[in-house]
Amino acid sequence: MPSLFDSVRYLKGVGEARAKQLHNLGVDTLYDLIAYFPRAYEDRSRMVPIAELEANIPACFEAMVVSHPHLAHIRKGLDLVKVRVADESATLNLVFFNQSYMKDTLVYGQSYVFYGSLSGDYMGYQMTNPVVEKPDEPGVATRRIMPVYSLTAGISNKLISRSVTQALEACRGSIPEVLPAAQRERYGLCGAQEAYDAIHNPPDYETLETARRRLIFEEFFIFSIGLAILRRRNVEVSREPMRDLGLEAFYAALPFELTGAQKRAIDEIRADVAKPAPMARLIQGDVGSGKTMVAAAAIYLAARNGLQSAMMAPTEILAEQHYASLSALFEPLGIKTVLLTGSMKAARRREALEALALGQAQLAVGTHALLTDTTQFRALGLVIVDEQHRFGVAQRARLAQKGVHPHLLVMSATPIPRTLALIVYGDLDVSIIDELPPGRQSVDTFLVGENMRERINAFIRKQVHEGHQCYIICPAVEESELESLKSAQTWAETLQKTVFPDLRIALLHGKMSGAEKEKVMGAFARGESDVLVATTVVEVGMDVPNATLIVIENADRFGLSQLHQLRGRVGRGKDKSYCVLFSSNRSPETQARLKALCASNDGFKIAEEDLAMRGPGDLFGSRQHGLPAFKVGSLAFDLPTLKTAQQAAEEFLAGPEFASMPEYQPLLQRVRALFASESDIFN
Ligand code: ADP
Ligand code: MG
Repeated sequence: MPSLFDSVRYLKGVGEARAKQLHNLGVDTLYDLIAYFPRAYEDRSRMVPIAELEANIPACFEAMVVSHPHLAHIRKGLDLVKVRVADESATLNLVFFNQSYMKDTLVYGQSYVFYGSLSGDYMGYQMTNPVVEKPDEPGVATRRIMPVYSLTAGISNKLISRSVTQALEACRGSIPEVLPAAQRERYGLCGAQEAYDAIHNPPDYETLETARRRLIFEEFFIFSIGLAILRRRNVEVSREPMRDLGLEAFYAALPFELTGAQKRAIDEIRADVAKPAPMARLIQGDVGSGKTMVAAAAIYLAARNGLQSAMMAPTEILAEQHYASLSALFEPLGIKTVLLTGSMKAARRREALEALALGQAQLAVGTHALLTDTTQFRALGLVIVDEQHRFGVAQRARLAQKGVHPHLLVMSATPIPRTLALIVYGDLDVSIIDELPPGRQSVDTFLVGENMRERINAFIRKQVHEGHQCYIICPAVEESELESLKSAQTWAETLQKTVFPDLRIALLHGKMSGAEKEKVMGAFARGESDVLVATTVVEVGMDVPNATLIVIENADRFGLSQLHQLRGRVGRGKDKSYCVLFSSNRSPETQARLKALCASNDGFKIAEEDLAMRGPGDLFGSRQHGLPAFKVGSLAFDLPTLKTAQQAAEEFLAGPEFASMPEYQPLLQRVRALFASESDIFN
């Protein structure tokens, strides 16, 4: 009896080569295979007599071969097999292109099951390239609702389908039931085995729906349990309310008037910190909406109450930028700011650490360096995490541990519709900054094809000659054999050698070390390079007001929200800025998607659009938001199920069952796996 975690090599027909190919799909064990769900289904269950076949509507029928198959070589590379089949209702001509083996597969006088659709002209109807199976073969490709899997080179749909079915048989009885019985009963959910069977081999659409419902529920239940465990760690601690809540001096020190949305967010923070419990708030606002100043207000309040603050940013350059603007703002207000990054000189770092430990500095701005053991605070009362999706929940928690239940503020430029945010950030209150500072110019965005290449190159040159800088974003780091995507490395070389030998071209990508990246970004920020060819690593936080043009290659490869984030790298100064999207994908959907971006500069609107057009895969792609990726469930379409699952998780955790741990080990394992990057917080 094989175990769930045996290699797929256990299966018939899967040797070393196939196992490697499956590995490319993330499938190594029998369990991986069982959990490799179809991406779609094709209805091949309808059996009809030939006379009732309709043009262009695929269906199955059983028929006998009534002519000897005829093979014709039309020309090099084009073979044709013609054959006539019949059932009681009618006869039909079948044509197979480049499948010469059909001449021998189909035997005169024998019956087969076919699946295909009629095409016809004035000469009558025929069927081209139908799928063929013997009637006594168990239905693999016909007479069923056929699962359609995502494939990779060398792996056919039939192979996956057959292997999955084998794996299901081999593991029958050993698939763990992760949903507690009480919840399954209360919410009318089928069992695990039943669900896995039906998702791969649905006998009918009703059973398929039942299976899907259960698997979506399961996924969201596990997610909700994880969130609930995290949240529980937070509640029921108390801290002394802040008292001194006046902001007059702070407002007076600002070089500009805050927007209404900024003031609203600040008022919400003020109300939070006046309560006898730690704040846990998410500030969501489009790029450039001025989140930093909202955080600054919170830092000011903390300092007036004798509390220190720590602000953590994902990159050194971002930390340095925050340090520069915040120390300038706070210096006259008597608040001392220190910077803490990995690349700082030892002496300067020691000085900063000392100021924090002694309470001489009220604010530390830094990178992960803030998390090291040597960073100690005298009275850390407020923790701020900028660009929160770059950090895991665990890192957030580690910074908070440097104080005693400090207030928490996390900032995100990823606009998520409020309903959704309330659920997926279940452990945080949400403020939304839905207004840009006045006078901000919108970034003009254009969708172009290859035919515009030279004009765009000329435009890049023009921007540089006017003293500005440009970003060029490529979807890949290196040249890949499989896809013809622009790679940052090669493109940067090509541009430097052949197109812009006179310009200073820099290269930035995720395979570079942290220090290398910081160096390149720093140089670009100081204006030491003209054009930065980069992968999406520039997405977050770069603030280079002098950059006025961003060109995005293979734009169709990115999600709208991500494109919007990238676009936010320009338009940060006083000069008119532009975004050029290159795409040679002419499909109407893609064009519509990209045009939506050209038409709007409103991140929230784009996020909604993104959700509607392609679901939240993009919004909630695993690495994008520090949230897990869901396999079956969709945060856009299955929101009601998510709500129910969340409720079920609360019930379960509140009930007595949870205490009997051993039984729920598989469940907890799944919780850990889902939050893989933060599993350490579930210890
Ligand atoms: P983000 O929300 O993307 O973090 P920032 O806080 O970096 O945005 O703000 C972007 C720029 O806008 C900064 O240069 C900041 O000084 C400026 N800014 C912020 N608030 C205002 C305001 N109310 N009026 C004018 N400029 C502002
Ligand atoms: Mg910011």
